[in-house]
Amino acid sequence: MTAVENPDPDPTDALSSAPAWGARRELPIAGKVKFCYGPMDCGKSTLALQIDHNLARQGRQGLLLVRHDRSGTPQITSRIGITRTAVELDPGTDVRVLVRDSWAAGRHVDYLIVDEAQFLSPTQVEQLGELADDAHVDVYCFGIATDFRSELFPGARRLFELADELQPVQVEVLCWCGLPGRFNARVRDGRVLREGDTVFVADTEEVSESAAEVNSAPTRAQPETTTVRYQVLCRRHYRRGDLGPTVSHQGQLRLT
Ligand SMILES: [Zn+2]
Repeated sequence: MTAVENPDPDPTDALSSAPAWGARRELPIAGKVKFCYGPMDCGKSTLALQIDHNLARQGRQGLLLVRHDRSGTPQITSRIGITRTAVELDPGTDVRVLVRDSWAAGRHVDYLIVDEAQFLSPTQVEQLGELADDAHVDVYCFGIATDFRSELFPGARRLFELADELQPVQVEVLCWCGLPGRFNARVRDGRVLREGDTVFVADTEEVSESAAEVNSAPTRAQPETTTVRYQVLCRRHYRRGDLGPTVSHQGQLRLT
């Protein structure tokens, strides 16, 4: 989808501050942008779907968006088995146009749920802020903050700058030492990689699922012979590259 700016906004446009639901006009507050962030496998997608469920039960209408869902199809997939269909965003998608199109089709949008929000472009994050301010849409973003180099994703950085509320996801993912794990270490041959290709290769489906989350540029993993995996570490052990006594343990990307 191409981003198109309307130089002469129509006051009846769906994105003007005159939503069809008249009562909303009396609300003094704009919508809010909330960013829930955490390391891999901390349950962000599960929380996203729970919030969607709760809001829908209140009679509110939402739009679910995702950037590069781990399933490779436009849906929000939780690792505990819940799935909802979503709209896939590509780098050029203007989120305001998505919402405007929905309104034009007669479908109200009270809130947006955005999963894998770290992959949004800074511009798309700014569009979310505009939707909150001007169209009273509540925006719930879910994603991880930093990539395998421990540096902020551009989309996550813009969310930290613009969001009304920042919330670390409380489902704890622990480093092997027991401290909260905050860093998504990329590991090959028992070593923590500090730099490298953003194109990911992995040899198991399970690893490549999580890998898609922490690559700076989302790319579908291709089967390869090189074993690359991800492990959540505390800062001390991320800094030291200390993977602990069970580095060959498989399944540590899972909560269970
Ligand atoms: Zn540790």
